[in-house]
Amino acid sequence: MPITALIADDDKATAKLVEVLLKKWGVEAVVAHDGLEALEIMMQDEPPTLLLFDWEMPGYSGIELCQKIREIDTDNPPYIIICTARDSAEHIAEGLNKGANDFVSKPFNTQVLRARVEVGKRTLELQDRLMSAMSRLDKLASYDELTGLMNRRAVFERINEDFARAGRTKSCLCFTVCDIDWFKQVNDNYGHPAGDAILNEMGKLLTQQLRPYDRLGRVGGEEFLLVFAVDDKDNAEKVLERIRLAIAAHPFQHEETHIPVTMSFGATLIDTIDNAMRVEDYFKRADDALYTSKANGRNCITFL
Ligand code: GH3
Ligand code: MG
Ligand code: MG
Ligand code: MG
Repeated sequence: MPITALIADDDKATAKLVEVLLKKWGVEAVVAHDGLEALEIMMQDEPPTLLLFDWEMPGYSGIELCQKIREIDTDNPPYIIICTARDSAEHIAEGLNKGANDFVSKPFNTQVLRARVEVGKRTLELQDRLMSAMSRLDKLASYDELTGLMNRRAVFERINEDFARAGRTKSCLCFTVCDIDWFKQVNDNYGHPAGDAILNEMGKLLTQQLRPYDRLGRVGGEEFLLVFAVDDKDNAEKVLERIRLAIAAHPFQHEETHIPVTMSFGATLIDTIDNAMRVEDYFKRADDALYTSKANGRNCITFL
């Protein structure tokens, strides 16, 4: 992870000096000469992470900048060093209390500045390693091992995010829960490994039947959730009918034995996202519809 610094100082000579020193110590830096310019740089995608702020500057002071930057919601907060001649105990305490990580007195002692910068680099590197570890754990916790599909928690979370995101305009969503018919018998007749193989194959088949931007997850033992955009109910019925037929016709097999598999579907159409409704609510409705499909003899689709 290369660290980029931002130097904000209205004194051009000081800014230049720090820039040259940082470069010598292996850190590339961008320079801002007032608080507004610095804040603008921090609003860009992938902003600098090691920040050296002068206290007194036009626009925003270094302290005001600290406060504003700490308000930005990010998983990767920057490391802020305040550089100033105001180095009384009160000023140091104020700077740290307002969000700075560290403090360097001006005029600079180069050795001390370098040591402070190294502490900042170490802290940022540690933060980066923690973030990568967290994202690896998140991946492990979000995907089902047997099918490679998202698990219940992850797919619910993703769909709730989809709902929250503005900009879904013309189409509506078909929210579907489906469940393999008589799956207990499959395990009983062909063995649990055969059941596992079918679940894995089903994950692939469903993935093939949907588009990459549709949502698909394994939400229970032999139960899957599908959410996809459609123009209307007619369209939704056609899609689900195509999937139902593809499953019934698919040559599922385990160790040379052909195993017939069918799926029952329960669906509900979401026209516009009602803020009061969450994934859990739509799921309940689709699950009720699935129950009707089971009661009606299975291998069929019910809308509610
Ligand atoms: P229905 O048509 O009413 O859905 O009948 P069913 O037999 O499919 O439903 P039931 O809920 O009675 O049984 C579900 C079965 O799914 C029982 C359970 O052993 C099996 N199952 C759940 N998860 C797994 C899994 O990961 N692997 C295997 N092999 N079987 C599983
Ligand atoms: Mg100044
Ligand atoms: Mg079942
Ligand atoms: Mg079930």
